[in-house]
Amino acid sequence: MGNSYIAFKALLKGLDLEVILPPPITQRTLALGSKYAPECACLPLKTNVGNFIEALELGADTIVMAGGWGPCRFGYYAQIQRGILEDLGYSFNMVVFEPPDTGFDDLIEQARFLGGGIRFKEALSLFKFAWNKLIACEKLEKAIEFYLPRSEEKEQALAVYRQGLQAIDMAESREEVHFCADQSIQRLKNLSCRNDIQPLKIGLLGEIFTILEPGTNYYICETLGLLGVEVKRSIYLTDWINDHLLAGLVKKSRRKKIIKRARPYINYWVGGHGRETVGYAVEYARRGYDGLIQIGPLTCMPEIVAQTVLPRVSEDKGIPVMTLWFDEQSSAAGIQTRLEAFIDMLQRQKSSYSREVEA
Ligand code: SF4
Repeated sequence: MGNSYIAFKALLKGLDLEVILPPPITQRTLALGSKYAPECACLPLKTNVGNFIEALELGADTIVMAGGWGPCRFGYYAQIQRGILEDLGYSFNMVVFEPPDTGFDDLIEQARFLGGGIRFKEALSLFKFAWNKLIACEKLEKAIEFYLPRSEEKEQALAVYRQGLQAIDMAESREEVHFCADQSIQRLKNLSCRNDIQPLKIGLLGEIFTILEPGTNYYICETLGLLGVEVKRSIYLTDWINDHLLAGLVKKSRRKKIIKRARPYINYWVGGHGRETVGYAVEYARRGYDGLIQIGPLTCMPEIVAQTVLPRVSEDKGIPVMTLWFDEQSSAAGIQTRLEAFIDMLQRQKSSYSREVEA
């Protein structure tokens, strides 16, 4: 799920486990998942089935998967995936970390189990190291979201970003992790930039896997950045972990504020991130963003609920909204065309508004 693999890899390696990463998501991954998963399953389940098959082909014998509960289908994922892979004849162990909302102690206990019963203190220090890798990756992600639309050397900026992630992945101490992130951010700042322009600002809302994993959202953040748009996401993984596993103790939490913003449009938890999608839509409209893009896997229940509400938010707050659904039939060209059309419309709206203000 996005760059989070860097942190999880560090955690599992720290437990003295040999880590076999599935290759990056490709058409083959999606084809494998779509072939063996139920047709109506949401895309993350299919994608992960493809990921697991590719990792098993590389020799993995254990799969670590997150569990869950609530109104949407996520709680069934691991069981369905296990069944599909067993039916295909694969032999493996599946360790399900669940439920993630029961507290940090439980999570450490599960990590200790994976690591053959290592001491609590050691497990805690591994979590801290992995957490620092996550923080560093996100610092860099936020930096590229800011600099890419302003940069006059966009390909170079993306290269610096990718090299920075690689360096964070290789780093072996907390200091080195942050040094790599800071150094890459400095390199981004040193590139030629148009700091005098105000790029379009778009809030990217939606389901967590689709927001975080570029392989399933057709690199939407990069595409928007290359089109000169600054993107702010409704989900950053450290916020999610802080809110759901660490009781909001490690960093300032915006969760309560966002839930409040969702009222009166959505007053209940509808599973996944449906309520947050609406809350962030209101929040970004209040901050003066130029537009919103909601993304999610086709048939994602919480995001369908949010989608039915977003036109009202759009009308009340005067902010354009577009929804993009992703499944195995999506195509890069189709996504690019829709993004270009939406941005074109936002740019025209922004310049006609500026002309009105000047007049
Ligand atoms: S949040 Fe959406 S995509 Fe994720 S499991 Fe639930 S229904 Fe599927």
